[in-house]
Amino acid sequence: MIEPTVENVIIVGSGPAAHAAAIYTGRAELTPLLFEGFMAAGVAAGGQLTTTTEVENYPGFPEGISGPELMDRMRSQSASCGARIKTETVERVDLSATPFVVYTAGAEYRARALIIATGATAKRLALPGEERYWQKGISACAVCDGALPIFRNKPLIVIGGGDSACEEASYLSKYASSVTMLVRRDVFRASKAMQHRVFNDPKITVLWNTEAEEAIGEAALTGVRVRNNKTGEEQVLEANGLFYAVGHTPNTGFLESQLTTDETGYLITEPDSTRTSVPGVFGCGDVKDRVFRQAVTAAGSGCMAALEAEHYLVDLKSIQRDTVSQIEGKT
Ligand code: FAD
Ligand code: NDP
Repeated sequence: MIEPTVENVIIVGSGPAAHAAAIYTGRAELTPLLFEGFMAAGVAAGGQLTTTTEVENYPGFPEGISGPELMDRMRSQSASCGARIKTETVERVDLSATPFVVYTAGAEYRARALIIATGATAKRLALPGEERYWQKGISACAVCDGALPIFRNKPLIVIGGGDSACEEASYLSKYASSVTMLVRRDVFRASKAMQHRVFNDPKITVLWNTEAEEAIGEAALTGVRVRNNKTGEEQVLEANGLFYAVGHTPNTGFLESQLTTDETGYLITEPDSTRTSVPGVFGCGDVKDRVFRQAVTAAGSGCMAALEAEHYLVDLKSIQRDTVSQIEGKT
């Protein structure tokens, strides 16, 4: 019987974390195999940045660069460093024994080490008008888009009452003429510290018990119809920007609870490390980061995962060598 090939390392994902991991493991001559997915989690190969226009805060591009072009460049760099890339979605994995088994629609693969870099997807609200004005006034990332000229000195709206919403509102208030937060209950979910920041900012107004009903505009967004869910009263708020901060969904469903996650599904890794609850499996990027969620932090943790996978494989080889020599010593 022909034994199936065992890869050194399989990388699952296609954003900055996956490609940083591919570049580092490729340069370490581990010939990584990367599954970039085919519309996995509803996003094209290349990850979240394929859904945006200009990226102005990734180091090395003083003029900015389009999200899709940045991801094309990362993909080319991975390939030129020796990564083999398959446009297949990983449907499930078996981490119960090593080598780990990775299943796609038509095939299965084995690997000694696994890097999970499947990212997270910003939740949307499916408002009427949302599709039309997505990236034409509606965004799910204030830090990414807030400084764009279309939002400068304009009235903006943030939906959500958590830490992200408060942080985004505070961030946006530096650029906006005003920021209105729509909070669906009469309390914030956010920490007290973040709440203080919002309450002490004269540019931010909070509308409690208020939900968005419709995004309104012409070529771009001009306003949002909102409703008070206690009184039923409706009004149209002028707004050139609408920022969703209603949470993200980490793409960990395919792991079927074989790795430890928090209650919302984010991978838990050891402090200052990308090591997950299963030795040999590493998690990097937004799939394990509920706080920073930036391309540069994702790439940084992809580098960490690659270096840790490389060390793991070196240790594994010396363990295997020791075991073989012990067996040979006995015979
Ligand atoms: P992601 O980019 O989330 O990519 C992971 C990808 O892996 C998925 O999208 C999917 O294609 C693939 N995948 C998922 N599951 C599987 C599977 N089972 N099998 C195979 N493949 C799979 N950050 C910035 O720093 N600057 C910006 O200007 C900026 N703008 C943004 C604009 C928008 C609209 C959004 C949504 C985000 C923006 N961000 C920006 C955030 C940034 O995109 C993310 O922090 C970063 O992309 C996270 O990278 P990642 O590698 O963790 O994964
Ligand atoms: P959260 O899940 O904490 O908050 C989501 C917010 O969106 C809640 O206020 C929720 O309302 C609201 N919401 C959800 N769905 C809807 C909807 N359909 N319509 C209107 N509002 C909705 O997500 P965050 O991204 O804010 O935070 C995630 C985690 O990251 C938290 O643990 C947070 O502490 C952490 N974080 C920490 C930061 C920091 O420390 N600087 C910065 C950012 C995040 P409701 O409360 O009614 O459920």
